[in-house]
Amino acid sequence: MEREHRLREAICWAGRRLYEQGFAAANDGNISARMDDNSILTTPTGVSKGELTPEMLVLVDASGKVLAGEGRPSSELVLHLRVYARRPDVKAIVHAHPPYATSFAVIGRPLDEPLIAEAIVHVGPVALAPYATPGTEELPDSIEPFLHNHNALLLSNHGALTLGPDIKTAQFRMESLEFYAKITALSHQIGTPRPLAAEAIDRLRQL
Ligand SMILES: [Zn+2]
Repeated sequence: MEREHRLREAICWAGRRLYEQGFAAANDGNISARMDDNSILTTPTGVSKGELTPEMLVLVDASGKVLAGEGRPSSELVLHLRVYARRPDVKAIVHAHPPYATSFAVIGRPLDEPLIAEAIVHVGPVALAPYATPGTEELPDSIEPFLHNHNALLLSNHGALTLGPDIKTAQFRMESLEFYAKITALSHQIGTPRPLAAEAIDRLRQL
């Protein structure tokens, strides 16, 4: 129970950060964490991520069936369930619509220029998944090919998804991804970005 309580608090913490940073307008975005082998704690649909309280969270099984909680999970929960099914190492997932990262997803431009060290170390390679209709099985299918080797994904014309071994890591990956997208966009506006040298990137990857 202690662990469940901490997880609930951590999800609310991430929700407040998403909302306060403008990564999730209105009721957008969703967060989840693996409780144990067969249960996942997630945010309810129709609630602003800035106004979450621990008791609002919904407990679901690996197929998305509600085990406990008053609310209904988001229709985007299917994304999270697919990740948990494929990646046993992932214990937490954050989905949001941060403006810079989402703009890359909207114009279909991959976020793959090696411009800042932190993005290489903390975010890793960023996948660009094709557009999929929300609320359908197309959505989890769209991320499937990228899941095994990415912890950060852009969802075309939609938003971003970050994975981690805990809530804090998944949330910070979302923040670093957005910062990386912002710097990439701004640096192209004011001049010509100078990418990191291959040797510098190799050294970072060894860290
Ligand atoms: Zn979304």
